[in-house]
Amino acid sequence: MTTRRAIRGRLLSFKGDPAEVGAAASHTLIEDGALVVEDGRIAARGEARDLLGRLPAGTPVDDHTGCLILPGLIDTHIHFPQTQVIASYGAQLLDWLQKYTFVEEQRFKDPAHAARIARFFLDELLRNGTTTAVVYGSVHPESADALFAESERRGTRMIAGKVMMDRGAPAGLLDTAERGYAESKGLIERWHGRGRQLYAISPRFAVTSSDAQLEAAGALLAEHPDCYLQTHLSENHDEIATVRRLFPWAKSYTDVYDRFGLLRPRSIFGHCIHLDEPELERLSASRSVAAFCPTSNLFLGSGLFDLAALRDPRRPVRVGLATDVGGGTSYSMLRTAAEAYKVLQLRGQHWPALDAFYAMTLGNARALGLEHAIGSLEPGSEADLVVLDARATPAMAHRMETIAGDLAEELFVLLMLGDDRAVRATYVMGEPARGV
Ligand SMILES: [Zn+2]
Repeated sequence: MTTRRAIRGRLLSFKGDPAEVGAAASHTLIEDGALVVEDGRIAARGEARDLLGRLPAGTPVDDHTGCLILPGLIDTHIHFPQTQVIASYGAQLLDWLQKYTFVEEQRFKDPAHAARIARFFLDELLRNGTTTAVVYGSVHPESADALFAESERRGTRMIAGKVMMDRGAPAGLLDTAERGYAESKGLIERWHGRGRQLYAISPRFAVTSSDAQLEAAGALLAEHPDCYLQTHLSENHDEIATVRRLFPWAKSYTDVYDRFGLLRPRSIFGHCIHLDEPELERLSASRSVAAFCPTSNLFLGSGLFDLAALRDPRRPVRVGLATDVGGGTSYSMLRTAAEAYKVLQLRGQHWPALDAFYAMTLGNARALGLEHAIGSLEPGSEADLVVLDARATPAMAHRMETIAGDLAEELFVLLMLGDDRAVRATYVMGEPARGV
């Protein structure tokens, strides 16, 4: 028996990066469109008048006429054990970790706590239209088990891992090089490629991992080359000075990770704010990904991401967009992209709304090498979708009165004024996750 559903609305999907192919060639918009979803995948996309009449009798049709339907949003860097430290006052990175985060993360040794927070976390992502995220757990393997189990239950595609950290934190948050390796390997065997779940080997950052542990992370990656790697890089000046002290042999912060074989196309480096030219060249040559986390960078006072420098065509670095909750201050990718726009304004760089929506969907799918599965409305894709309403609040509806049919203007209103209230519905593999 085929499970079938049709979903009607304004279908917006990207086929290229507007910064590379131009605005007009970057996307398709079908104003009165329909998707036919069969067994969780997009089976057909077209004009509603063509598709809806041909459906087998009794096929449910979800009508979102007037709203935009896009691929589900993708977040390339977020911490699931930090949902109760988000919005903690008054510290920069290293103090914020010690004072708030390292206290909170100790609670994830308890599987019941981890399971409860995993439920909240996925509820909150889906409420914000995010259907795939790259997620840090705590040091405890129980945290990654809880997140994957909850994701599997909901059918979402998540990339996650337990963090490896063997120094620089309270004893309750430390593993060892050997234990971090063994626990990560066990999780890879349990979860990587099981259904939609994928594993990210996750040394937290060079400050909390010894040479031996980074070497173990490199060994794991060599043994499991289709796993992801996630860590933090060059977020804050005190952090960079600490890394310089801990790794006196390294030419740079990036060189620490490079020495242990961690720079690869499936490696995601959070922040990448204060990099020098040789570091950018190595990230580019290795096709590593930099995750731009604007709300976090502003909240922790870390600095302004330099998108133009990273994307310099002479040695372009691949970039993803991310919330970085709980250093980040919003689960919403709309809010996150709005803050990215403002960071780039301070850098004197332009970032049109089409570029932002590309980044949240196909751009982030490409950053993860998952564009064959998610990030577009191409037939054959997994039917993770978000339905957005640019008139969701009185202020948005009021602003929209002055916009007559211009997609870029509408998208910009969604960015600047939108958040979870603009998410009318979220679909996971063609099934409504909320609010239909
Ligand atoms: Zn982070």
